[in-house]
Amino acid sequence: MGGFIDASPSPFHAVATAAASLAAAGFIELDESSMWSKSEPTAFFRRGASLVAWRSGRAEAGFRIVGAHTDSPNLRIKPQPDTGAAGIAQLGVEVYGGALLNSWLDRDLGLSGRLAVAGTAGIEEHLVLIDRPVLRVPQLAIHLDGEISDRGLKLNKQSHMAPIWRQGTSSAGAFAEWIADEAGVAVDALRGWDLMAHDLTPSGALGAADDFYAAPRIDNLASCYAAVSALCADTAADTTLVICLFDHEEVGSVSSTGAASSLLPQALGRIHETLGGTASTLPLVLSASSCISADGAHATHPNYPDRHEPDHQISLNGGPVIKRNANERYATDAIGQAIAEEACRAADIPFQLFVNRTDLGCGSTIGPVTAAQLGITTVDMGIAQLSMHSARELCGVEDPARLVAALGAYFAM
Ligand code: ZN
Repeated sequence: MGGFIDASPSPFHAVATAAASLAAAGFIELDESSMWSKSEPTAFFRRGASLVAWRSGRAEAGFRIVGAHTDSPNLRIKPQPDTGAAGIAQLGVEVYGGALLNSWLDRDLGLSGRLAVAGTAGIEEHLVLIDRPVLRVPQLAIHLDGEISDRGLKLNKQSHMAPIWRQGTSSAGAFAEWIADEAGVAVDALRGWDLMAHDLTPSGALGAADDFYAAPRIDNLASCYAAVSALCADTAADTTLVICLFDHEEVGSVSSTGAASSLLPQALGRIHETLGGTASTLPLVLSASSCISADGAHATHPNYPDRHEPDHQISLNGGPVIKRNANERYATDAIGQAIAEEACRAADIPFQLFVNRTDLGCGSTIGPVTAAQLGITTVDMGIAQLSMHSARELCGVEDPARLVAALGAYFAM
C-alpha cells in the first residue's frame, strides 16, 4: 500500500498509479470519447482524476461494484499565487476539503498535480510531480503567540497558511515561470494548473512492534489500493466486477467526475451494452447488483474515548469497519451489513461495526451518493484509522490486506 500512496500525491497521480497497476495486470485502457464496440473482458477508462475499471461477467448476473475516492484534503495553489512579505516570496493557497490545518505546519512539502498546456492538437494535460522540499508553512514561534497556551492554536486559512517558496520579493508570473521550467513546458503555452502540496515523509510501519502504519492520504488511497488489488486478482465470478475511483469526495462529490456525476451510471450502461445488454435490460440487472463504498472509518481515539460510542469501540488492526447511520449519512442497511459480514466471514477475517455517538454529527462519504444514483444496496465499509484528514494519518498494519481480502471475497460472492 505504501508504494501506491507515495506514488500518488495528487488524485491525478492516484488514477495514473491505478492505471499502471491495471495495465500491468492485462487491463485495456479505453477512451471514453470512443465507441466501445467489442467486449473487452478486462478494461478501464479515466475521466479527469476518476477511473472506472471492470472484469466482465455474464450480463444478466449484474454488477458487484466497489467505490472509493482519489482525493484527500490539502493545500492547493491559487491561479495567481505570487505573494509574500518580509523579503520572502510565498504562494497563495486554497484549503481543499476539511484539512486539519495544524498538520500542514512545519512539514517539508513537495508539489504535484497537472498543468493545462496549449499544444498543436489543442489543450494538453501534463502531470507534474516535484518530490523534493520546495514549500513550507512555518508556525509562529510560541514566544510570539501569547494566547496559544490558553486558547489553543487558531489558524486563519487566508492569512496563516501561505507556504514560503523562495527568498526575495514576489513578482507576478514568477511561479508560472518556475513551474513551467520544472515541467519542461514553455511558459507562454501554460494555460492553467491543478496543483497541490504534499508531505514528503515516506509511508512506513510505526510502533515498537510495527503494529501501525503511518502515511498521508490513507483516507482514501488505502481503499483505492484495496479496490485495484482485489480487481486485479483473477476472481472467478459470474457477475461483472467494477471498481470506480472518484475525485471530489472531500468537497461533496458534485462535479463532472465526482460520485454525484454521470460517471458510474453511464459507465455501467456502456459496459452492459458491450456484454449484449440493452437500455431496457439495465434496470433488471441493476436490481440484482450491489456496491461497497470503501472509505476510512474512525478508530476509537485513546486520548478522546468520550468522542466515540462506548458500545461500538473500533480498534486499529480489528479488521474492516462496517459503518451504519440511521440518518443515511452512511448507506449501509441491514441487508448491506449482512453482505459485508458474509464477505468478511468468507475471507476469514475479523470485522467491526461502527456507529457514531448519537449526540455527535456524522461525516459522510460516497456511499449514500452512489446509492441514490444507482438505486442499489450499498455498504459503507473501510479501514479504521486515527487522525483522519491530517497530512499524516495512521492505521493498523494488518488492516489494508484484510480490506483487500474482504473486497476479493465480495467479488467472489
Ligand atoms: Zn474519505
